[in-house]
Amino acid sequence: MTRDVLTILNRPSRDAAAHLPGAPAWHFADPQSAQVSALDLGATRGDGIFETISVGDGFPQALEHHLRRFVKSAAALELPEPDLDAWRAAILATIAELDPVAESFVKTVLTRGIEGDGRPTGWAYGAVSGDFTEQRTRGIRVVMLDRGYRRDVEQSSPWLLAGAKTLSYAINRAAVREAVRRGADDVIFVSSDGVVLEGPTSTVVFRRGDTLLSPGTGLGILDGTTQANVFRYAQSLGLETAFELATPQTLLAADAVWLVSSVRLAAPVRELDGQKLAIDAVLTAGMNEYLRALRD
Ligand code: PLP
Repeated sequence: MTRDVLTILNRPSRDAAAHLPGAPAWHFADPQSAQVSALDLGATRGDGIFETISVGDGFPQALEHHLRRFVKSAAALELPEPDLDAWRAAILATIAELDPVAESFVKTVLTRGIEGDGRPTGWAYGAVSGDFTEQRTRGIRVVMLDRGYRRDVEQSSPWLLAGAKTLSYAINRAAVREAVRRGADDVIFVSSDGVVLEGPTSTVVFRRGDTLLSPGTGLGILDGTTQANVFRYAQSLGLETAFELATPQTLLAADAVWLVSSVRLAAPVRELDGQKLAIDAVLTAGMNEYLRALRD
């Protein structure tokens, strides 16, 4: 039984030298033993990027969208550009080595490597997913928290890296702990000037009548791969889809709200800032069926 797999890239970017000249593009390593140097900037400064890709019955889902976002995040941090051929090969090798289960995931990590060395560190880690049945069916309780940035942070302060998927997720984890202190499970961030942004690990989607909506990009938030697929599913049902700025009030007045992300997929919000929200059980089940069955 191989329930988790670690694959280390020899040369994560063609713009930097290989770690082992002449060695294969990737090799498996023991995920339970130390592999990354204590001097790696990913560990010491959170200076790196990642992606988490859902795997359904052995097929990576939204792989090309994830890889595009990986390259975009690398550019935002001025990291050497990921060699996507090497990353694709490492991801597929990781999946092939994992137990064939219905739901697993692969996390790709690219760090700036050891200070002064110039070679980035890269690995893909695959594991069997947890069971998210409860969150997908019963729903989650969410609180809205001020992120402290204006909606135009991406344009006004690009050095804050809003909208890049960096390893610096300590703030996102702290926000979830704050939600738990407030008796909730998860968070929706709101900009300091009052618009709905995203969750710490998810995209906000909401329904108004026959239209499925999401805040869209350009707000210092991630371009969600799951949101894109949820919109495709909605369109296949004949629903309208649109990007629209929302305020907390818009969400409280919506017909249904979800947090959508890789791995957990579509989690309906059953309570928002203490107010009960209706769950659209049929649409939610349809979304999750669709997302689970994706084969690319
Ligand atoms: N927003 C943030 C901050 C995230 O970390 C994530 C995923 O981890 C998402 C949105 C959702 O992205 P995706 O649907 O591609 O997993």
